[in-house]
Amino acid sequence: MKYSKLVEVYKAVESTSKRLEKTKILADFLKIVHENELETILLLLQGKVFPEWDKRKLGVAAKLVIKSISLTGGKKPSDVEKKWKTIGDLGEVSKDLVGRKSQATLFSADLTVEKVYKNMVKISSVEGHGSVDTKVKLIAELLSNASPDEAIYIVRTVLEDLRVGIAEGTLRDAITWAFLIKEYEIASKGKVMSWKGPEGSYNEYKEEFELVENAFNKTNDFGIVAVAAKKGTSRLKKTGMQVGKPIQVMLGPKERNIKNAFERVGRPAALEYKYDGFRIQTHKDGGKILLFTRRLEEVTAQFPELVKRIKKFVKGDSYIIDSEVVGYNPNTGNYMPFQNISQRIRRKYDIEKLAEQLPVEMNIFDVLYYEGKEYINEPFWKRREKLKKIVTEEPLQVKLADQLITGNDKEADHFYQQSLKAGNEGLMFKKLDAPYRPGKRVGNMVKMKPVMETLDLVVVGAEWGTGKRSGWLTSFTLGCESDGEVLEIGKVGTGLKELETEGEVTFNELTELLKPLIVKEKGKLVEVKPKIVLEIAYEEIQKSPTYSSGYALRFPRVLKIRYDRGLIDCSTLDEVQDLFYGQNK
Ligand code: AMP
Repeated sequence: MKYSKLVEVYKAVESTSKRLEKTKILADFLKIVHENELETILLLLQGKVFPEWDKRKLGVAAKLVIKSISLTGGKKPSDVEKKWKTIGDLGEVSKDLVGRKSQATLFSADLTVEKVYKNMVKISSVEGHGSVDTKVKLIAELLSNASPDEAIYIVRTVLEDLRVGIAEGTLRDAITWAFLIKEYEIASKGKVMSWKGPEGSYNEYKEEFELVENAFNKTNDFGIVAVAAKKGTSRLKKTGMQVGKPIQVMLGPKERNIKNAFERVGRPAALEYKYDGFRIQTHKDGGKILLFTRRLEEVTAQFPELVKRIKKFVKGDSYIIDSEVVGYNPNTGNYMPFQNISQRIRRKYDIEKLAEQLPVEMNIFDVLYYEGKEYINEPFWKRREKLKKIVTEEPLQVKLADQLITGNDKEADHFYQQSLKAGNEGLMFKKLDAPYRPGKRVGNMVKMKPVMETLDLVVVGAEWGTGKRSGWLTSFTLGCESDGEVLEIGKVGTGLKELETEGEVTFNELTELLKPLIVKEKGKLVEVKPKIVLEIAYEEIQKSPTYSSGYALRFPRVLKIRYDRGLIDCSTLDEVQDLFYGQNK
């Protein structure tokens, strides 16, 4: 397929804010995509080159793109950079500079989706001496053959900052419309057929929507889902989990007290310690073990001791289990808060030594797949029974999450206090007969913790400091998440330190993390890819027309960097709303 066709779709989707229109544009397009190209197209529509769980990463910074534009457009890098600071968007800069150039060379070849994709994949694999030059050339090769419009989207894609407004739900609906609802043109007229829409025509096609939704939740991969949907419902039904491919984790809303928590999950319920660690999804396939974080990043290499222990203490040839890995003091055996061990997720060297200094215990709380059978639709109590049979418990190594089944407030409170005393965050309340719902923050499990409400917000922009803070980014624009999109909720500049202080976030640390993520720069303002999540304390949530979420925070303050979180699991607009309405209770 010609890349220009895909660009037409990007532009059409970008030009409307109406979800139904976007869905229709995408559905019409997906219908004409050849099966061989569906997976690539679905990644590119999401502005991705690799799925989340893939180890390969693009990692292209703005500086590199500037060099490529300069090479193609025959301008000095400093001139490109200057233009960038005035226009603010590197895509637009490339449109201007590269566009003029390609009009001069009339014989440039037509770009194909395949070529664009191939070069991007290559970018991720070049390493070592001269790699910067090679990457610059790979991008420049695309730009020199691109039309001005194509240049925009090539640049935005390599920067992983597509911004055409295709939310996950829209893509899921588009796949359903394209392949399973033949008469969607008529059906969609005047009727709302989106996931979030009211009843009505959605109900007529409930089964179709759910098939696509389920397949996506299990595979986490729109490419696989679209290919299956194109082949028909029976193929879609067979699309199951695959060991080695992480599935979206189930999340839980928060409740303020025991009574409310029970109201959500019913009595009796399974109450579990809520450990203050990080979530690890383990996949075992024969001798091979893979560990993923809740952001679906693979972290197997960082936890060699866990790999060994899982093999020893968890029976079975192939399985997917869910757990919380929590750190403890090697001298006392007492649990430690997450931030004390967060470096274990990122550390790339001296791993064995770090594992001794910062030992961890794995607390298994769910099984999603075991020896060829999916368990997610089994009730929770059955999944727990299964775990009991396959896990040999060894405290401080691998064990089942501490659990109490009760419907009694007093017993629940006692268990809650006991959990806090042991150094945990609080309790999880789990519905006994509920299935595991991947990727959902549903009421099948509910969390309860005493600490002040904080929000985990993603940084989307910042401002370069002046005076003694020059060289650092200051004043960070924060966003929450809604259906895969980021909505702004305010700015934060306090809580960060100028000098290195144990356990505190410094301007320097945050600046270094954000610098490679800058996608737009205008004057002192920068826009960054939404990847870094901060835990934010505040005094109050207020309604505000200033920010796209409709809310703002009073006196926000940075508490810590949540290295374990990304856009998919930062605070949602729904949570912000709940907190807002709960404030005055
Ligand atoms: P929160 O991080 O506040 O959204 O709470 C949900 C998280 O608590 C999950 O994603 C897990 O990482 C963690 N967690 C700790 N203990 C448990 C448990 N027993 N069951 C489920 N999740 C747990």
